Amino acid sequence: MEKKPFVTREKLEEIAAAVPTPFHIYDERGIRENARALRAAFAWNPGFREYFAVKAEPNPVIMQVLREEGCGSDCSSMTELMLARAVGNDGHLTMFSSNETPAEEYAFAAKMGAIINFDDLTMVDYYQKNVGPFPKTMCCRFNPGGIFTVSNGIMDNPGDAKYGMTREQLFEAFAKMKAGGVEHFGIHSFLVSNSITNDYYPMLARLLFQLAVEAKEKVGVHVAFVNLSGGIGIPYRPDQQANDIFAIGEGVRKAFEEILVPAGMGDVSIFTELGRFMTGPYGALVTRAVHEKHIMKEYIGVDACACNLMRPAMYGAYHHITVMGKENAPADHVYDVVGSLCENNDKFAIDRHLPKIDIGDLIYIHDTGAHGFSMGYNYNGKLRSAEVLLKEDGSFELIRRAETPADYFATFDKLSVYKKLFI
Ligand SMILES: *Cc1c(COP(=O)(O)O)cnc(C)c1O
Repeated sequence: MEKKPFVTREKLEEIAAAVPTPFHIYDERGIRENARALRAAFAWNPGFREYFAVKAEPNPVIMQVLREEGCGSDCSSMTELMLARAVGNDGHLTMFSSNETPAEEYAFAAKMGAIINFDDLTMVDYYQKNVGPFPKTMCCRFNPGGIFTVSNGIMDNPGDAKYGMTREQLFEAFAKMKAGGVEHFGIHSFLVSNSITNDYYPMLARLLFQLAVEAKEKVGVHVAFVNLSGGIGIPYRPDQQANDIFAIGEGVRKAFEEILVPAGMGDVSIFTELGRFMTGPYGALVTRAVHEKHIMKEYIGVDACACNLMRPAMYGAYHHITVMGKENAPADHVYDVVGSLCENNDKFAIDRHLPKIDIGDLIYIHDTGAHGFSMGYNYNGKLRSAEVLLKEDGSFELIRRAETPADYFATFDKLSVYKKLFI
């Protein structure tokens, strides 16, 4: 898939005059159109809802845009729950798919009416002992174990993952929860991350639909929803093909017709908790070339670093790069594009073929709209960047300001004297 920035160089220079680089920018139009396509692909299921995985891009303005497109929130911590509340996603508009969860977070989730998703059988007793009676609607997370393979060979290893419970444990949990007053049940599982295939969701759906039928027959519970969770990927590389959300929706529908409908379970709602698919391609990290260095290799130093985008350093992840204004220039130079951390993995690109980069060029790092800003950190005393929303009408809005040293010093309660001195 050809990778093109969603914003022009002129617009980025205009924004950079008001919001200094580096910053993450998000494309409201892209986010909305994609969210509408997802809804259309699952329109055959009247109860369908996407719960946006807040950890992918925890900005209330983005969450609000998604809320306007019918999306709820998927949270796994107290502050994520608070964000969901802040945008009005009370009640069943929030899924709490947490793990290793403290009682006070369950209590907060229950108070706002969120759907709580138990990651483990032990949470059933833990909840009753430390939180209180069960809400009427709850969910359990399933781990099938073994190796999960999809048709194009991509696979993951649920047997090695810390999440979810076994089949027997799930039935035991359901029985206990039913005895404790739960009336409506959900089944959840997340087996493959960033899948670039239209087969993942349909295969997962088949597995969970069969489990839902079994749960109904064995434990006698009402399964109200199946939550396919996250995992639909995006084409980070130009040679990758984007997923076809309509083919995916159709694949899930087929499994639904074949498994749930004959079992008299045609009322089951499909939920998703997509993060990367919802915002990943509609965000970019905008940074400027500030230094060049010629030693054994050619280096371009930019004013962003791994603190602004951890994925390349952490997973060796590929993020496509466009040198703004040089989209059509030949990629006849080979660079490592690096940040300023005292860590040799602080490289946005290694041996990347790019057009000649001049100091001052705007560097557009693609696909940072999910698990980009949100994985940011403060190593080397680096400060988190601003976030900007490019609105549908072409104007822009600062939706998170950049951190300042005062933010960094804010948690040193005993250093008030120093704070006064330096800030
Ligand atoms: C991370 C996560 C998601 C979102 O995953 P993506 O790969 O961004 O789609 C959804 N649900 C849970 C429980 C998660 O931990």
